[in-house]
Parts: sequence; structure tokens; C-alpha cells
Amino acid sequence: MIGLISATAAGAAARDRLAAAWPDRTRVYEGPVGEAVRAAFAECEQLVCFLATGATVRLLAPLLGDKTSDPGVVCVDEGGRFAVSLVGGHGGGANELSRAVGALLGAEPVVTTATDSVGLAALDTLGLPYEGSVALVSRALLDGEPVALEVESPWPLPPLPVSAHGSYTVRLTDRAAPAGEREVLLRPPSLVVGVGASKGAPAAEVLGLIEEALREAGLSARSVAELATVDAKSAEPGIVAAAERLGVPLVTYSAEELAAVEVPNPSEAPLAAVGTPSVAEAAALVRGGELLVPKRKSSARPAMATCAVVRRPGRGRLAVVGLGPGARDLLTPRAAAELRRASVLVGLDQYVDQIRDLLRPGTRVLESGLGAEEERARTAVAQARLGHAVALIGSGDAGVYAMASPALAEASDDIDVVGVPGVTAALAAGAILGAPLGHDHVSISLSDLHTPWEVIERRVRAAAEADLVVTFYNPRSRGRDWQLPKALALLAGHREPTTPVGVVRNASRPDESSRVTTLGGLDPATVDMMTVVTVGNTATRIIAGRMVTPRGYRWQEDNR
Ligand code: SAH
Repeated sequence: MIGLISATAAGAAARDRLAAAWPDRTRVYEGPVGEAVRAAFAECEQLVCFLATGATVRLLAPLLGDKTSDPGVVCVDEGGRFAVSLVGGHGGGANELSRAVGALLGAEPVVTTATDSVGLAALDTLGLPYEGSVALVSRALLDGEPVALEVESPWPLPPLPVSAHGSYTVRLTDRAAPAGEREVLLRPPSLVVGVGASKGAPAAEVLGLIEEALREAGLSARSVAELATVDAKSAEPGIVAAAERLGVPLVTYSAEELAAVEVPNPSEAPLAAVGTPSVAEAAALVRGGELLVPKRKSSARPAMATCAVVRRPGRGRLAVVGLGPGARDLLTPRAAAELRRASVLVGLDQYVDQIRDLLRPGTRVLESGLGAEEERARTAVAQARLGHAVALIGSGDAGVYAMASPALAEASDDIDVVGVPGVTAALAAGAILGAPLGHDHVSISLSDLHTPWEVIERRVRAAAEADLVVTFYNPRSRGRDWQLPKALALLAGHREPTTPVGVVRNASRPDESSRVTTLGGLDPATVDMMTVVTVGNTATRIIAGRMVTPRGYRWQEDNR
């Protein structure tokens, strides 16, 4: 919950806008501001104070405890010009909140934590449990001192400006060894603990067994990603409580699924009780991995719990990101976030240039020239399979005549894939032309480099017969000049020469140009590879210079 506190009429007005925008996430605290701040600080995860920073600092000072548990606090000034992240920038989420509040109120977010101001990923915001000297090592990263990254258990980290050797270390490990003086340990979610328990096994016995198993194997409980067991034990109180205490989800599998897993220590007892010769080992191993702790029983007599520990291979992450047609404000915030999330960027050199300023320091850029599509797709997938966070970029939408399909055709299920849609050329052009796509429409690429012309021609004919609005991608290049006239002639067989045609070159780029002409009037020589051509259907009209394909609303027809 976000507590909202204000003192003045202007503050209350801004406060009410926030409350109206986020009704389920906010609570308004009325009354004297001192009491309101104290109550909100005790009850909420975050506060937005429509007060001067000075006043807020004085009220907060006696309440502040620890940056890992205190609420994040954002101050908004009387004029609503700034949203200042005051305390809890990372742990309390105040930096993020100041951006969100700023976006909503039209205020400038003010963030002063060092890592954010220089674009570094802060070590305490990676979403991984951490131990050790975060402040010291962050300082070293900021100062450009050599910091080594040591990866024992891979996890797709965002970019960090690290070097091969250094007097400071960031170590990605599930091993329990304590952090060195100049070291930060990041705990990847690499361990799965399989558990079995007889009916009524006490929580303390289950938890004690798990902790003992991890301790003896030298593993950190903070790297445990989940507990796993058989469906029949999904509500066994001791197991449920152990998962809660460890703060991890409990995942269950059917007895048949577990019975099919090959394990080193099967036994008769669980086979009789729940229908699989192994619960702990099988549940830990069912999604693959390396068995670090084979089945062991608790030391209680009679022993009522078993467990086994498996290390799963790190899963890389491949984000397929559409950059939009060109203009920065048509690149989505989600695409920008994915570019900053990736430690490896793969793309065509000219697209990389478009977004280089968005990348975090330390991002590894693998760029290649036109024509190297297959190699780019392979590289992106191979990097993700090594456990990296990879962004594969494409202009417009990366799934439209672009890299998403060759990449996903290469990708196996051992990596996570995230797609970020982008504004494709047909949409960018449509918005410039008017409303040409108001009814059913298709896109057709006229490039016969990868598609035989007969196939293209069959599709153009079908679109012509079906009276679809058609947008031609890759319409014409120096070596491919007869395809566009041929395609237009096919459409002209079913549409009047007066049918509107829109031509947009470099949509949303600095040298954007567009014109609306007709099927009879278009000179194909004016079209090149930077262009899309949108041909209207038999109902498309030019109205006030804009291309409009009627949606077919009855009220418009009645008004004619
Ligand atoms: N993935 C891209 C399309 C790649 S195919 C997208 O979704 O937009 C390349 C073709 O797209 C070009 O030949 C051109 O026809 C079209 N195109 C891409 N960007 C364009 C832009 N900004 N303006 C006009 N056409 C564009």
C-alpha cells in the first residue's frame, strides 16, 4: 500500500489525482501531517508526501530504521514539478515510485542514488538475495575500479562493468561460504529441494532436515528456488510450513511423473504409500539437474521426513525486442527496459546505433552487417544458452519479417524467451496516411530473396480477390524493380485506378516523407527499400487529403 500525505490545497489536489489513478494501491492519510506520516510509515510499504523535503526529513528522522525494511518515501513539491526519491531508493522502491509518480503527475523524477544516476544496475536491485559489502563494491564499480565477476552458478545478470581480475569481487554462487571483505555474494535461484514426509511429520523436523542437508553440503538456503514433492503431499502441514519458512513456493508432481524419473535410491515404502518409488529425489530431479545431496532421512526416530537437493542448470534469457520504426518516442518503455536488462546485445549494426545510448555500461554488443541474419539468430541463442541475458533487436516489430522466427527456430526449451512488440512499419505508415487499415488488411513482402515469386504472386492475387487493404514491405530495390508494378497490376484487376495508395518513406525518421496517390497514378520508380506502400480496398477514400478505409459503421451510411 502507498500512503499519501498532504498539507496544502495544491498538495491535496495532486494527492487526489494519484489516489484516483491508483485506487487499489493507495490510501489517503488525513489530519495533522506529523501523525499522518507516522501512521503511514508504520502501515505502508511506500509513502508519497506532498510536502517540502525539509519538512518530510524532520518528520521521518525519528522513524528511520534500516534501509532494507523501511518504506520508500517520495516527496512531491507544491508546484508538482518534482517527484524526489527521498529514502529507500532501492530497497523501498522509491526510485521506481518517483518515476511512476512523475509520469502520472507530469513531474520530473529526481533520483540521487549513484548507481541509478550513471546507469549501472545496482547490486541490491538485481532481484537476487545478496550478502557482503554491497556499498563498498558498488563504490568500486562506480569509480571504475577493477571488479571481477565470478560465476559458479550462471544466472542471466544485467550488465555490470566487470573485468577479468580485480581487487573486488561479485560472486554468483549457491555455496554457503561467507563473503570476503571486498566481495558481494549474489544468490541465484539454483537449488531445488525435494521433500517427502509421512502423514503428520512436524514442520520442525522437515525444516531441520532441509537445513542440515544444505549445511552439510555447504549450500546456501538463500539459493533455494523451490521445494518439490508429490501431489498427494501438497497440503502436508509440515512441508507447507517448511516452504513458508524458507520463503519459497511448493511445487508438486503426480506420482506417475515421479515414478518415471530415474533415481539412485528408490524404495518400497513410498511406492506403497503414494505410488512412486521415490518422492524426494524424483521431485528434485524431475526437471533435470545435478543431484548434490542424495536422499537422506531426518535423525528423528522414527524418521518422518526425507529430502534431496538438486542444482538446476542456469537458464539464460533471450529477449526479442522490436525497436519501433525509428523515432525514440515510438520505442516502448518495455523495449527500453529490456535493452537495459540485457548483458549481451545482438543486432544489425545500423539498429544498434539507434539505441546505443540506452545501453548500460558493460553491455557486450555483438553487431553484424546486412545479410548475416542466420548468424545473428544463432549467436543470440548460443549466448542465451550460456546463461546470459540477451537482447536480440529488430526495427519495427522484431517478429515481422525479422529476427524472431529464425531465432526461435534455433532455440531449445532450456532458455527463457521474452518478446517485446514494436510498432511495425505498416502501423507507423498508417498513422501518417490517415486510417487506411480501418478494415481487414494484410502485409505482403515483395522480397523474393527468400520466397519464390509464384508464392508471392498467389498471395497478392488472393488479397486482390478478397478486397483486402494491402501493405507492401520490401517493395522495390535496385535489383528488384519489376515486382511492385506486377503486384499493383494484379490489384488493379479488381480495383479502380482511382483507388487510394499511400507511400511512406522512413516513417518516424528524420527524413520522413509521405504522399497519397492512386493505383493509376503511382510511379513505382519513386519507391525504394525505405518505403512501405499501402493500397486501399474498394471502399477506401481520400477525405481531406487523408486515406480512410471505412469501418462500415451503419450510422455513417445512414447519414449519407
Ligand atoms: N521488422 C520490420 C520490417 C522489416 S522488413 C517492421 O516491423 O517494420 C524491411 C521493410 O520494412 C523495408 O523494406 C520497408 O518496406 C519497411 N520499413 C521498415 N521500417 C520502415 C520505416 N520506418 N518507414 C517505412 N518503411 C519501413
